[in-house]
Amino acid sequence: MSNSYNRYLGMHRKITRRDFMNGAAMAIGATWLPSFSMRNSPAAQEPQNDTGYYPPTRTGMRGSHPGSFEVAHSLRDGTFWDSAGEPVDTGESYDLVIVGAGISGLSAAYFFREQAGESARVLLLENTDDFGGHAKRNEFHLGGRLQLLNGGTVSIDSPTPYSTVADGLLKKLGVDPPQFEKKYADNKLYRSLGLRSAVFFDKETFGEDRLVLSPERGRKDDDEPAGHQNGWKAFLEKTPLSPQVQRDILRIQTGKIDFMPGLPSAEKKARLSKMSYRDFLINVVKVDPGVIPFYQRRTEGEWGVGIDAEPALDCWAEGLPGFDGMGLDPGAAPHMSYSAAGYANGGFYDFHFPDGNASIARLLVRELIPDAIGGHTAEDIVTAQVDYNHLDRQAAPVRLRLNSTVVRVQNVGPPNSAKEVQIAYASGGKVFRVRAKGCVLACWNMMIPYLCPDLPDAQKKALHYLVKVPLVYTSVGIKKWTAFQQLGIHNASAPGCYWSGVGLNSAMKMGTYRTPTSPEDPILIHLGRTPCKPGLPAREQHKIGRYELQTTPFEVFERNIRDQLARILKDGGFDPARDIEAITVNRWPHGYGYEYNPLFDPDWPEEQRPNVIGRKRFGRITIANTDSAATAYTDAAIDQAYRAINELKES
Ligand SMILES: Cc1cc2nc3c(=O)[nH]c(=O)nc-3n(C[C@H](O)[C@H](O)[C@H](O)COP(=O)(O)OP(=O)(O)OC[C@H]3O[C@@H](n4cnc5c(N)ncnc54)[C@H](O)[C@@H]3O)c2cc1C
Repeated sequence: MSNSYNRYLGMHRKITRRDFMNGAAMAIGATWLPSFSMRNSPAAQEPQNDTGYYPPTRTGMRGSHPGSFEVAHSLRDGTFWDSAGEPVDTGESYDLVIVGAGISGLSAAYFFREQAGESARVLLLENTDDFGGHAKRNEFHLGGRLQLLNGGTVSIDSPTPYSTVADGLLKKLGVDPPQFEKKYADNKLYRSLGLRSAVFFDKETFGEDRLVLSPERGRKDDDEPAGHQNGWKAFLEKTPLSPQVQRDILRIQTGKIDFMPGLPSAEKKARLSKMSYRDFLINVVKVDPGVIPFYQRRTEGEWGVGIDAEPALDCWAEGLPGFDGMGLDPGAAPHMSYSAAGYANGGFYDFHFPDGNASIARLLVRELIPDAIGGHTAEDIVTAQVDYNHLDRQAAPVRLRLNSTVVRVQNVGPPNSAKEVQIAYASGGKVFRVRAKGCVLACWNMMIPYLCPDLPDAQKKALHYLVKVPLVYTSVGIKKWTAFQQLGIHNASAPGCYWSGVGLNSAMKMGTYRTPTSPEDPILIHLGRTPCKPGLPAREQHKIGRYELQTTPFEVFERNIRDQLARILKDGGFDPARDIEAITVNRWPHGYGYEYNPLFDPDWPEEQRPNVIGRKRFGRITIANTDSAATAYTDAAIDQAYRAINELKES
């Protein structure tokens, strides 16, 4: 690409974005030593105690940010202990140490204190510079106004109803999702401004760049078959798709055709569970192959792979088109993924805070360490400031230590009779040791064999099986959104582009927090990408995607943001060099917990599932995190924490 195009995009512009160290440089060249000062006492000089320490406002590469993963990777590579030296004994002793301060780790601390009492001493160790794990807050101050987006975990949603435990925890935190959805989500703003969804067809995939408004939903005549069909026909005629592809998409979207005539519903479902949606379209619906790019990425947001690697039956449950005339009985069937089975049975509620489930993490921290966060309600948590220097106070019963990667967790003595656990963690270039009566690993499954090399081999193998799903969520601050208004859109899916979609922040009003209502005001937009490699089994695709995320420099993300926004919003007068104010790339090489995929994973009985074998208690060490549930939802993170705490009690 020419320099002049780069200038047009604004690659030279000074904005809040770069950490100067990008992922690739850190992954390849660095030692495991983070950059802050060497020290002997762990708490005395923690960066989180520095004045102005406030990671939610950090921009540039976030999520798995530089400085957070090098220790873990050197442990994986077997080089960590070569240079680490003997851990320094801090002399600290706790009732419980928790590894990982995501929703699962924070919930574990909450449940433990419910059982052991408020004076129980708990230490949470977290390798990144903030708490919340995937539930990450992206905080901006654009034009002097607070604006929030989720850097990861978005919604309180789940394909299955929240358990009594998970729902109970939300209630104790004052969170009532159905009521909150009614009260705080502003579902009318964009509609009142005449904004709709659109699809962006890019020239590399579809032959030319073209933005086309999506078929209108929600109009009265849209509910009528004819209106629905006319809407789709009008949409397709404006696209650069060939006439045959248009006819096929119209057939899939609006036809009521039984593509497996003569078979009972159960048999159809059984067949659909064994073929990908892509194969269903090509071999059963018999579409032109040119149809595939239009649908290929529809499943990425849910499972991290495209339609080549997702069973057609799961796609039916997800609401993908083509099944209307097939007479499939409602409800789940054998050989469905966890999410698809849940959706087939009706799904569950959905609400998100302005910063996603980071608000839940903050509510939990406020319960655990009240001095660190002001306020009293689930409403005021949104605008509350966190005093990070209160998170790790010696006198407090609960301490939360950031920038601390746990590197070894050992029962003291044989696991069956151990009464204590030793935990070593690396921070600031040194390794420290603490002791506890028990330890919950609320970190990622694949990390655990490196932390506990004494685990039985079968358990280590099981822990390695689940490959987390890589994702990247990007928050971009722009000066105004008049271009969106001009084009009449609030979001655009981009089936062929680097980012699979672009959208204005959801409109919300919660307490004193309000997203912008005037297109002349600055706003946040969200872009998402799920790196994968179509054609391979799902876990292989995730591994390739993870590598891609770990080795992509920030500038590549940035350039793709600028290029894509410029092309989508061109006719609305968007100027990428002028209009982009800030960029935060939340990179999650280890994102969603892996859900078994009926196309690739055996249909194990419950007790043989890798997540069940992997999460077994090991002496005074128990295992939480969504990986232990083989799925990726906040209720699972909470439920697994509860189980892990109860297993400690029972041991
Ligand atoms: C982009 C994205 C979007 C999502 N959207 C949703 C959604 O809308 N709804 C939903 O319900 N779920 C969503 N999820 C799933 C999400 O994973 C769970 O809901 C939940 O937040 C997971 O919590 P957790 O505590 O189990 O894991 P995590 O949030 O991953 O927390 C584990 C923590 O352990 C830390 N850790 C790992 N190893 C170590 C170590 N050795 N030492 C110290 N710390 C360590 C990690 O850094 C991390 O902070 C999303 C996930 C991602 C990535």
